[in-house]
Amino acid sequence: MSDVQLMNIFEELNRLSFSRQQLTDKRNILALLIQFKKNNGQNEQQYPSEAEELKEIDEQLKVLTEKKIELENLQERLGGSHLIDTTVSTTESPPSYPAPRVILEIGELPRHSAPTQCPFCRQYVTTEVTTKAGSAAYIVCFISILFCCIAGCCLLPFCLDRCKDVIHKCPKCRSHIQTCKKL
Ligand SMILES: [Zn+2]
Repeated sequence: MSDVQLMNIFEELNRLSFSRQQLTDKRNILALLIQFKKNNGQNEQQYPSEAEELKEIDEQLKVLTEKKIELENLQERLGGSHLIDTTVSTTESPPSYPAPRVILEIGELPRHSAPTQCPFCRQYVTTEVTTKAGSAAYIVCFISILFCCIAGCCLLPFCLDRCKDVIHKCPKCRSHIQTCKKL
């Protein structure tokens, strides 16, 4: 009998912490909004609905917290441990930045290392990049010679990465995945 009661309390506690988490999130957003309006020189009379809502949420949070403490006390009396009280607040929120996109079309690889699927070992890897003087570097060199090269500036394209080809390699199987040609 007490097992069933404990289970019910446990479920109720989980529901409670979930609602509390939702309310807290909502409260944080509201507080941010109000702070933003304050920073823009508005006073409290200009956003009565937000201020009112914030008060309401605080009130609801207080009620939920009281209920939670009450349930926890009951749980303790029935012999349940606090260990099974898994609060939702421990769950991590997803990161605010987008996850890096895995480029499955190797022809679309950018001129820097990027996540992709190696076509040789079929593993998901972040490519290793190296640069190599390609036809673009030779053409730029040739043009600078035509326009009278001063102090070896025709060799500059061989030092500038943006004039060179970029080679993507698989860090796992060392295969050559793709060359991004400048020209
Ligand atoms: Zn590979």
